[in-house]
Amino acid sequence: MESIGTLVVGAGITGLATAAALDGEDYLVLEADREMGGYCKTIRKDGFVWDYSGHFFHFKHPEIEAWLRERMAGQRIRVVEKKSFIAYGGKWIDFPFQKNIHQLEKDEFVDCLYDLYFARAPAELLGPGAPARPPETNFKEMLYGRFGRSIAEKFLIPYNEKLYATDLATLDRDAMGRFFPYADLTDVVRNMKVADNASYNSTFTYPEGGAFEYVKALASAVGPGRIALSEPLASLDLEKKVARTARREVRFERLVSSAPLPSFARIANVSHDASVFSWNKVLVLNLGFDRKGPRDVHWVYYPGRDTVFYRIGFYDNIFDTDRMSLYVEIGFPRGAAVDEEALRARVLADLERQGVTSGHRLVAWHSVVMDPAYVHVTRRSMAEQKRLAERFAEASVHSIGRYGAWTYCSIEDNIVEARALVRTF
Ligand SMILES: Cc1cc2nc3c(=O)[nH]c(=O)nc-3n(C[C@H](O)[C@H](O)[C@H](O)COP(=O)(O)OP(=O)(O)OC[C@H]3O[C@@H](n4cnc5c(N)ncnc54)[C@H](O)[C@@H]3O)c2cc1C
Repeated sequence: MESIGTLVVGAGITGLATAAALDGEDYLVLEADREMGGYCKTIRKDGFVWDYSGHFFHFKHPEIEAWLRERMAGQRIRVVEKKSFIAYGGKWIDFPFQKNIHQLEKDEFVDCLYDLYFARAPAELLGPGAPARPPETNFKEMLYGRFGRSIAEKFLIPYNEKLYATDLATLDRDAMGRFFPYADLTDVVRNMKVADNASYNSTFTYPEGGAFEYVKALASAVGPGRIALSEPLASLDLEKKVARTARREVRFERLVSSAPLPSFARIANVSHDASVFSWNKVLVLNLGFDRKGPRDVHWVYYPGRDTVFYRIGFYDNIFDTDRMSLYVEIGFPRGAAVDEEALRARVLADLERQGVTSGHRLVAWHSVVMDPAYVHVTRRSMAEQKRLAERFAEASVHSIGRYGAWTYCSIEDNIVEARALVRTF
């Protein structure tokens, strides 16, 4: 039987960042897929460059971005001021909706401002007899409580229901963490005169070769022969600290997994409540057209139920290439059947109706179902994740990453988390 210091499960961003941080120590990375990269893979087809889904990058830690860039010699990387919109009422208004209600028709603007005011104004201004503030115990209540009925029902609820494909009342209040663009009454009113749509992603970075360039940068710091592709972890004995694949048995000192938490708990044979873990899946359609479409736009949100997708993004407006190159995202409950061909036809019809295409010819496409895509962060999932993390830690096992820790995060968060964990070894 082989012995290894650290066994890493998964060669996505998290697993590779862990391996890179181990810096020459004794480790092996097991990857189930034929290729590394996890959800950060890039596809090239007929001159188009597409990611598995729209991956635009927002670095908060300059040293992480610099570390990656040092390993991306010759790669053109652009930092772009994002232009994002919401398709609403037959026009595009600036994102985020809650800070741009003044761009709505007057009656809708009045409804939104009125409801926001009475949801948020200080109690002393409202005087006695004002209704008590409703509770904010879940995501849906938080949307009503923070923004009032009109903003919630015109955009925040329908959009997030399309994305998460679930009842938003089941999600934790902070299900989106820092990724939720909060705005208070003052922000909203100030924005009516001085546009400041800054959110966590007001600029983004994108490499010409696609998201996979970051994967390659991380992998360049992983020793040769340390990644075993097409070799899934099949079972785990936590007491003996032995992992099994179809090819080998490995005794490890510690293990870091980025596999989805419910499947890892099953592989590790740890008793857990599988019913607390739910998620959506996202069909991503990457579409290449014969000519240019709208300019000065990077992505657009579609809250309307009459449109099948919840978001589209324009790769061709990053490097200003001459043919429209889109990603289109559609959310589904995890068990739903996905008829990709029928959906592609529906997407093309909706793009035409929405004015994104006007007689454009589709010349290349690719699709992928990300399953899980957005995990449903609930109170029960958070409690079970914590309990499992404590149980795993007893055996020097750590389940991290977007799916390993069952959370909402970015690739930079994955790198930060992996590095922080390795520092504790
Ligand atoms: C729709 C969507 C859009 C996103 N957009 C952005 C964005 O714009 N910017 C951004 O920063 N982030 C974005 N993200 C998040 C980003 O994709 C993730 O944070 C990141 O890719 C997660 O990396 P990971 O390594 O934790 O997980 P994964 O990429 O899922 O990697 C896990 C790896 O483990 C492997 N594995 C699973 N089970 C086993 C097993 N039993 N044995 C061995 N290997 C196994 C898998 O094959 C996979 O390669 C987006 C995510 C989604 C779903």
